[in-house]
Amino acid sequence: MRKAIFPGSFDPLTNGHLDILERSAPLFDEIVVAVLNNPDKKPMFTVEERCSMIGEVLEGVKRDGCRLTVESFSGLTAEFARRSGASAIVRGIRAVSDYEYELRMALMNRRLEPEIETVFLMADEEYSYVSSTLLKQVFMLGGRIDGLIPELVEQKMREKLS
Ligand code: ADP
Repeated sequence: MRKAIFPGSFDPLTNGHLDILERSAPLFDEIVVAVLNNPDKKPMFTVEERCSMIGEVLEGVKRDGCRLTVESFSGLTAEFARRSGASAIVRGIRAVSDYEYELRMALMNRRLEPEIETVFLMADEEYSYVSSTLLKQVFMLGGRIDGLIPELVEQKMREKLS
């Protein structure tokens, strides 16, 4: 069984994340969207809120026979991957600027867990400039972000703001 984790902050989930998930689904039997519980960051949504939103959105995702689940974790990503029985860590690359950070992380994760491979997928050009942080900033300033984020997520952002 080929199992992968797709780790990240997902604060909140964007269409860029979904694009990577849909691209990776045909490659694996199971993918766990692994939501990092990072106490250093001040998130817009709690880990529980993020997991529940992702769970709902996943129901409408093209899965190509792949089982898609969502779990939260804290601590080392590589260790979580091993504990989950995953053989791969999926990450998305948007631009050269992502590469340097991702390369360092992938090499460190390989050192920690040599059996687990990091798999990089290229973002769709349509979403290559999309990040959770940028979308939150634009949203907070009253800008339009529809089409870049699942409708459910945008609705939850509106609820947060009010
Ligand atoms: P992290 O804080 O770990 O970078 P993110 O939630 O920002 O968590 O991102 C999780 C993963 O999704 C990362 O591999 C990131 O490169 C990828 N990603 C984020 N936004 C996009 C996008 N628009 N297109 C493709 N991949 C993306």
